[in-house]
Amino acid sequence: MKIHEYQAKALFKEYNIRTVDGVVATTPDEAVATARQMGLPVVLKAQVHVGGRGKAGGVKVVREAAQVAPTAKQILGLTIKGLPVRKVLVTPAVNIGKEVYLSLLIDRGKRKAVFIGCAEGGIEIEVTAKQSPEKILRCEVAAKDLARLDPGVLADFAEKLFPETGQADATAELMCRMGRLFAEKDASLIEINPLITDDQGQVIALDAKVLLDDNALFRHPELLTLRDLDSEDADELAAKEVGLSFIRLDGSIGCMVNGAGLAMATMDTIKHFGGAPANFLDVGGSSDPKKVVHAFKMILKDTEVRVILVNIFGGITRCDDIAKGLLASLKEFEVKVPIVIRLVGTNEAEGRALLEGTPLISAETLEAGATKAAEIGGRS
Ligand code: GDP
Ligand code: MN
Repeated sequence: MKIHEYQAKALFKEYNIRTVDGVVATTPDEAVATARQMGLPVVLKAQVHVGGRGKAGGVKVVREAAQVAPTAKQILGLTIKGLPVRKVLVTPAVNIGKEVYLSLLIDRGKRKAVFIGCAEGGIEIEVTAKQSPEKILRCEVAAKDLARLDPGVLADFAEKLFPETGQADATAELMCRMGRLFAEKDASLIEINPLITDDQGQVIALDAKVLLDDNALFRHPELLTLRDLDSEDADELAAKEVGLSFIRLDGSIGCMVNGAGLAMATMDTIKHFGGAPANFLDVGGSSDPKKVVHAFKMILKDTEVRVILVNIFGGITRCDDIAKGLLASLKEFEVKVPIVIRLVGTNEAEGRALLEGTPLISAETLEAGATKAAEIGGRS
């Protein structure tokens, strides 16, 4: 589960991780009142469940009283990566000395928790990881020790972020607190980008991102109340309502698959052949043609989609029902991108017969379908 920055900062506070206190505003007037109380300059920050808000114009330092209302209005009018901004966090602006990157997550391959750091902060860590992987620092710790880390074992890592002794110590302490928060709240990620020193040399978490493990939420009723349905991807929620599991990804190949396992195998196969899936979509075990039409609608909303791969293994799902759904979709809206389809299993022959004469590109195997889709969608 994603939570907002202001909620993550409240958790930080609970764990004595130094941040900047803020107040959430939902209207320009509220922002003005808060800024007046806080004193200028302030930072207005869009509260949406995506990164890169700064780049999208969602984080603004405001120095003049007259600019608070128009800036708040502008940010509240933004839609960032598909999510409308409904809240802005107003915080006192801090004078930044140095910005670094710090996060804590689980490395499943190594079965360890790992702190990731980079002495250059405020950046997109994925870009740095690709372009200068030597700049990415790692510090592995046993997951079972997370709640009781010894700052001593974190000292070298902390010193690479902030060489000055007092700051390195403060950073190691902060990492111990991150560990405890991570373990006690069943987080799957804590990211501080940037972690800064201010003009007095204090180490402060200027931004806060916390992901919580959905499967552990039953243990934390207090965290469940942090869920903001308004802020979850509208398409993903709409999909849930009609019985589809849909998760947006950033590739170019739209996927329509029946069954979560097959959907994952399909995404892996697409990747294996060099393509990039635009979504995970499980139309479920039943084969209501209406669901297929819905699924198409969701996929086609994404303007990045250049090809759709339909991979159906008919068991309970009947191939002819899927074919009917496809035909209905083709009739209902203009599908401008090519559709590659692999359709096998129950009522396969009937399904294929229905699709004869349509422009669908038929594939005998998943490998062939994924290869074709990657060819059309572009290899990443
Ligand atoms: P993100 O773009 O969604 O990651 O939002 P951040 O909270 O990380 O803010 C983006 C950038 O805005 C930071 O890297 C800082 O450079 C800048 N910023 C945010 N808060 C302040 C502040 O209080 N003072 C100053 N000077 N810059 C800030
Ligand atoms: Mn940030």
